[in-house]
Amino acid sequence: METISCIVPHDAGFSIPDKVNRETRPEGTRVNIMGVEVGGTEVVVIAGPCAVENAEQLAETSHAVKESGARILRGGAFKPRTSPYKFQGLGEEGLKMLKQISRATGLPVVTEVMDTRQVELVAGYADMLQIGSRNMQNYPLLKEVGMMRKPVLLKRGMMATIEEFLLAAEYILNQGNDQVILCERGIRTFETATRNTLDLSAVPLLKHYSHLPVIVDPSHGTGLRWMVPAMAKAAVACGADGLIMEVHYNPEKALCDGHQSLSPDEFNLLMRDLDKITSAVGRSLSVS
Ligand code: PEP
Ligand code: MN
Repeated sequence: METISCIVPHDAGFSIPDKVNRETRPEGTRVNIMGVEVGGTEVVVIAGPCAVENAEQLAETSHAVKESGARILRGGAFKPRTSPYKFQGLGEEGLKMLKQISRATGLPVVTEVMDTRQVELVAGYADMLQIGSRNMQNYPLLKEVGMMRKPVLLKRGMMATIEEFLLAAEYILNQGNDQVILCERGIRTFETATRNTLDLSAVPLLKHYSHLPVIVDPSHGTGLRWMVPAMAKAAVACGADGLIMEVHYNPEKALCDGHQSLSPDEFNLLMRDLDKITSAVGRSLSVS
């Protein structure tokens, strides 16, 4: 009897946009943030508070994360808060504090830009521009950061499909900026036990179809401090090029997202575990 070979088409079910498509750059893209490379064999950890609150909070937290091995500092100055009555961030004052602590620690800084009118301002202080989940489909903003010559951290929209996520990145590359890092930060599902459902399957998917580096945010992905270490380790095990995590020197007192922020001690312990996970998967933890 004749055997019929059945070739299962390896197909994403949608077409991968040109500029982000791995076929256009099979070796992968490395994004360089002031000398820190994301997308190579080293796994890069970005850490810091959800929001910049004051000079003491920022300094204590920044020095602690640096000592534990973080390579890039995170901290929001313009915060996209669900409630207009909650702390909205320190704005430009917060950006100035970030710049100052960046000089003191040597850590490059990533911070969110929410509005096309703020891009120049934020780019004047930050080393990498963050586009938050809520703005992943803000096309004028994507075009604006695409015109900057600064790396961009693009977070997945909370209801975005992989196709929509890649198309959002394509908007940035279309403007000539290929220094884009994709960040899986959890999506909305029927599940309410966690803040979001961290879609770790997005990591191998995105890396398969696109040449852009992929990192994971287990803080917003779970919303629960005690779950962050487990999901951070899982993210590295499944191929993430880095992590972005919230750390606060006193999580109980945080003005924003304290319940999902690690203490400096918890962060330190996690970094030791990540060192082991990275070597188990043939990579290494980036250290300064
Ligand atoms: C953040 O990282 O500060 C943030 C607000 O995250 P997201 O846009 O993923 O909600
Ligand atoms: Mn936060």
